[in-house]
Amino acid sequence: PPPFDPADPLGIDDLLEPEDLAIRQTVRDWAADRVLPYVAEWYETGELPGIRELARELGGIGALGMSLTGYGCAGASAVQYGLACLELEAADSGIRSLVSVQGSLAMYAIHRFGSEEQKRAWLPRMAAGEVIGCFGLTEPDHGSDPAAMRTYAKKDGTDWVLNGRKMWITNGSVAGVAVVWAQTDEGIRGFVVPTDSPGFSAPEIKHKWSLRASVTSELVLDDVRLPADAVLPEVVGLKGPLSCLSHARYGIVWGAMGAARSCFETAVDYAKSREQFGRPIGGFQLTQAKLADMAVELHKGILLAHHLGRRMDAGRLRPEQVSFGKLNNVREAIDICRTARTILGANGISLEYPVMRHATNLESVLTYEGTVEMHQLVLGKALTGLDAFR
Ligand code: FAD
Repeated sequence: PPPFDPADPLGIDDLLEPEDLAIRQTVRDWAADRVLPYVAEWYETGELPGIRELARELGGIGALGMSLTGYGCAGASAVQYGLACLELEAADSGIRSLVSVQGSLAMYAIHRFGSEEQKRAWLPRMAAGEVIGCFGLTEPDHGSDPAAMRTYAKKDGTDWVLNGRKMWITNGSVAGVAVVWAQTDEGIRGFVVPTDSPGFSAPEIKHKWSLRASVTSELVLDDVRLPADAVLPEVVGLKGPLSCLSHARYGIVWGAMGAARSCFETAVDYAKSREQFGRPIGGFQLTQAKLADMAVELHKGILLAHHLGRRMDAGRLRPEQVSFGKLNNVREAIDICRTARTILGANGISLEYPVMRHATNLESVLTYEGTVEMHQLVLGKALTGLDAFR
């Protein structure tokens, strides 16, 4: 067998094609050049000043709507999209969130449920990063239970008139288009809302202690009047937003392992160079136990992501399997980051190292796209046939 590779102890790269490796390298290089040198400052100031430029560059490397086909999208495989998410989140969960929301939520909704005119109007510009999209499902009073949402779209002649509030919406204040989910007389429907529509505003949410290198906003819809063709024609009901979320969650299964990898690598380097009691702390058995356990969970998680990616590429991935992956990988990633934090001692709390930034980012990742508890309930229901949601 080939020699043991500490960066890939299970030999998972053997599962990848040369094109997969090339795409991964492109995204890794982009993140190393355009995110890593600046992200601690963005995080500290809680601002992402170059977000429009970053979006265009991400469009340039094909990372936006990456696994969608046509309309200027890259048509990559699910595994390739996953690899990109991992590399982006190894830089920062905020950058991966930008890409997830753009590609897997806003673009995916239009691609899957939109009319031909909607697709032509929005997708090429979104794939190029010229237009940023957001996805408004969560409301101030309705998070895990979006079926109870209050935002309402009422017919007025052939027009629609939208009223309501959305909360915690990634990319909201910088978006040119918002996919907004609202109650209608027929059930929940999706609307493609140009953000310059009168009555629409998106104030940014400040004072976050997580995902600080990401724009998070409220969406305010006060009598937003839209033409008849603003509604996504191909879906009625919660299955619309839920299928978008399933796609985005799939990317998170990979992405979380990127944050974990960054923390793990930082911890290994630190443990080899930091000396206490006259020797590197990596030489102590307790530190090695931590590193071994971190490596086991990191690479098990990556292997799980691969497995789900192959199932998605084969058209065999079930939402319960995505819940399985999201539950495990985000939970384990946060654990890896916290353990890395202990290995770095006091330095672990400093922004000079990426560990605390990743750990606090993952607190959001643990909650959005379905909390830990929601995914436990999804699996619990699938395992028992009993619905414990309400
Ligand atoms: P709640 O639903 O109020 O849950 C609070 C707690 O109660 C959780 O632990 C939950 O698991 C638990 N709980 C709830 N119901 C049950 C139950 N039946 N059984 C057991 N436990 C239960 N949303 C969007 O639509 N678009 C976005 O772009 C977006 N971006 C986000 C970005 C960030 C940084 C964050 C933090 C959130 C974002 N969200 C977004 C919102 C996110 O999806 C919600 O926060 C999430 O769905 C949880 O909703 P909630 O915060 O209202 O918590």
